[in-house]
This record gives sequence, C-alpha cells and structure tokens, in this order.
Amino acid sequence: MIVTLSAPWTLYVLTNESGQEYVVHTDYDYPRLAEDLGMVGAVCGCGLTDGTVDCEHRTATDMIERAACWLSERDGELFSFQTGDDYPELFTDPTPSGTIPAPFQTIGV
Ligand SMILES: [Zn+2]
Repeated sequence: MIVTLSAPWTLYVLTNESGQEYVVHTDYDYPRLAEDLGMVGAVCGCGLTDGTVDCEHRTATDMIERAACWLSERDGELFSFQTGDDYPELFTDPTPSGTIPAPFQTIGV
C-alpha cells in the first residue's frame, strides 16, 4: 500500500490509494508513526520503550521531537506501507463493496 504523508500543523495525515485518510494527532503516536514509515532510531533500540515513555537512554520528549522533525521534513512524500506491520488495525486489506474499514476516518473529500 502506498500512503501519502501530509503535515498540515501539529498533526499528520496518511492518505492511502483509495483516498482514505488516517489522522495522527497525538504526539505520543509520532515515534511509532515515524518508525513505521522508515525513520531509523525514532524509538530507542533498547526495547524498553515504545517512544512514549523515557528509557535510561532517551526521554520520550526527545523521541517525539525528533520524530516530529523527521515527519515534517517529509510532508507530501509517498511511502510504501507494509500491510500488517504495526498498524494491522488501520491498514487491513480493502473490504468488499467499497466500504471504509471502521478505523479509517474520512475527512474532507
Ligand atoms: Zn533506551
């Protein structure tokens, strides 16, 4: 699945090929989003944090800020999203008859 990242202001929007949008607006979700889109080191590699809590190496604030910088620099870029990676609940296979899976939020259009 190809998704487009857009970064209007204090939130990030993923748009898939069907035009469905998923909005990430909670800063605690930034590290995971950045990592899922390919940022190296978004989350400390020690395995003791998911980026939302401090570990003994890095603070959550640091991880969130670096992830936000990385994401903002990539406004408008396309990413190949691996279905089933870390967002199985968001990027499942398209459901039949064009219905939008519940986790997607459609805005605008
Ligand atoms: Zn660590």
